[in-house]
Amino acid sequence: MIRASIAPTFESFRERARALLATGAAPRDVTWDDGVGQASLFGGGLGGDASATPGTPVIAVTASAPSRVPAAFVAKGELAALHSDADRWDVLYRIVHRLAHGESELLEIATDPDVARLARLVTDVKHDEHRMHAFLRFRRVAAAGGGDAASDATESFVAWYEPDHDIVALAAPHFARRYPNMRWVILTPRRTAVWDGASLQLTEGAKRDAAPRPDELEDLFRSYYGAIFNPARTNLALFAKHVPSRFQRAMPEVAITHELAFAAPARTLAMQNMKVSPSLAFVPARPSYASLVRASKGCEACHLFKNATQTVFGEGPVRSRIVFVGEQPGDQEDVEGHPFVGPAGRVFDQALTDLSIPRDQVYVTNAVKHFKWEPRGKRRIHAKPNAMEVHACQGWLEAELALVKPEVIVCLGATAAQVFMGRAFKITQSRGKILDGAPWAPKLIATYHPSALLRMMRDPELYEKSKGEFESDLRMAGQLVGLGR
Ligand code: URA
Repeated sequence: MIRASIAPTFESFRERARALLATGAAPRDVTWDDGVGQASLFGGGLGGDASATPGTPVIAVTASAPSRVPAAFVAKGELAALHSDADRWDVLYRIVHRLAHGESELLEIATDPDVARLARLVTDVKHDEHRMHAFLRFRRVAAAGGGDAASDATESFVAWYEPDHDIVALAAPHFARRYPNMRWVILTPRRTAVWDGASLQLTEGAKRDAAPRPDELEDLFRSYYGAIFNPARTNLALFAKHVPSRFQRAMPEVAITHELAFAAPARTLAMQNMKVSPSLAFVPARPSYASLVRASKGCEACHLFKNATQTVFGEGPVRSRIVFVGEQPGDQEDVEGHPFVGPAGRVFDQALTDLSIPRDQVYVTNAVKHFKWEPRGKRRIHAKPNAMEVHACQGWLEAELALVKPEVIVCLGATAAQVFMGRAFKITQSRGKILDGAPWAPKLIATYHPSALLRMMRDPELYEKSKGEFESDLRMAGQLVGLGR
């Protein structure tokens, strides 16, 4: 029997597995020892010590040890390695051994017991990561002199959390994106994550006593939770089933869940009527443009952030008298991080230039701040955002308008116009009119989306007519605020 000592990391496993494969070691002849449960939990930090324990047979490593495994295995293996089940190394080695011995399509066979076990390990880890994102609660560590803003440099936030698996390194970047301006620490028995406002450090685990006692932040959180209460949680039995009690202990809102549950039917109705945009939960109180941009980077108010490269926020002088609102960033905007810089942006820029409206004197944004796309071959094809996604993003748009306070909003296309004028608004019927933009601005004009003009190029007559209308709409908007000719 070969005893393979490794650090409990996929990298360490991979190195040792490579060496074992080179010697021809069969899975049944290998026992894995990752040091967990011995004196030092993780053998001295994240890297650990992979040296063999006394009595371990020395394994000859050939220089040309086979190392090629499918990328899909590496991606799954990295997640499975975070699982706390001791058998994960056996599973991984069995699979790697089989892949190297003629079963190159193994991962395609979902019913294979090893492949199914690997899938289960991966799902457990992802589930644990998801739970940590949802259930972790920060507590404020008292600030000297007591500040009230989350960004106060004198205060920081601490959370105690007990994940089932070794997921802190996996889950912590989410909190860095979500709370970039807070200094926070996440303590867990196995690892500690520290965010100082600029970089994320992972250090060794902590004891529960290191976590602060409940504080006034929890009162704050309870009132926040009361305000944004999700009526879906009124099924208390289901809540208890999905949120194990060790997580509930760290969730201050649990204390008021029953109370809120009784009021739920009325609240559901009220919430539907109020139509609160989910992005408001991410918008800072009394924001500056810089703090809005910063906070928007962590927006997860709908699912679109998952496939987008970055949030593309509005740009232009905060004192602009006109705000142009498009639909959503396109492929190029998503990569570059700026609105209207791709093909539609060139149409828009050309019209502004022809009308002598300087782009650097207007504010340009979109109704939706993440690129929604579908794959077609190697390309990312624009997909129209649906009403739920537009509504989810509306909190950002309203925050931009509250800051800029434009005299005129120009909606480029129906998606933007419908945010302000309702779902029934049609560009073909109502473009080019000066409309009442209250409560967002005194005046509102809707016109074609520049991409629509690009599509019209196939029909030169239609294109020329619509381009003329587009320019006349922009001219009218410019004239309302004394811009252009
Ligand atoms: N289309 C839009 O609506 N906005 C952009 O930023 C780019 C293309």
